[in-house]
Amino acid sequence: MKKIYAGDMTRLEFAERIKEAKCVIVTAGSCEQHGYHMALDTDNVLGHHMAMEAAKRCDAIVMPNINYGQVWSARKFPGSISLSNDTLKAVLKEIILSLESFGAKNILLLAGHNGNGQAMKDVARELVNTHDLHNVWYYTQTFSKELKGVLESPIPCNCVHAGEMETSMMLCVRPDLVDLSKAEKDFPELPAAAKYRPISWDEYITVGSYGDPSLATEEKGKLFLDAIIDEVVHLINDIM
Ligand SMILES: [Zn+2]
Repeated sequence: MKKIYAGDMTRLEFAERIKEAKCVIVTAGSCEQHGYHMALDTDNVLGHHMAMEAAKRCDAIVMPNINYGQVWSARKFPGSISLSNDTLKAVLKEIILSLESFGAKNILLLAGHNGNGQAMKDVARELVNTHDLHNVWYYTQTFSKELKGVLESPIPCNCVHAGEMETSMMLCVRPDLVDLSKAEKDFPELPAAAKYRPISWDEYITVGSYGDPSLATEEKGKLFLDAIIDEVVHLINDIM
């Protein structure tokens, strides 16, 4: 069977696979607080899992994950290590240019942490301008209304950081990194001023997770993961 994860390949295997594969997936996660009940590595674990599962169903290989991301909102919580958008863009750009030099047909930047979405989009645009590269794609996690309907926490808290949805996905992939006995409910209200000036989470959030993570289940997590993986497979198979 062909290897999917580039980190497992030898240089000769990689040289061959990158030229023949339709897509190279680069995941960008974060080292970020996920409330009292879930590990800092959550976004890295989930992003890598999504990429690997998608790659099994299409002609793609997966690069080692970028373990740090743009987590400005959470930066004051211990464990959240925040890169600026400029730093993240520089890292992405240099990885992309390396992959291009080895013959990548398409490169998909996949956000394990949606806060990386802006940098991903900006770097793809920049590379169109500066290098005439039209083969850099990006994906951030989005969910349909119907899918959000399976969650029991009230909207909007049901689908934000470290809440019922993300905790459910983690229960599917790495339940050992979730301790539901430590999960606490929190329904923070976004201050009205947040629409008009930067307000970080430490100004109005205590726990660091939204909604009621104790409502998370593995079954719900599978629904969300399947939807994400299906969309990535569709992007690679049908749109690229
Ligand atoms: Zn997360």
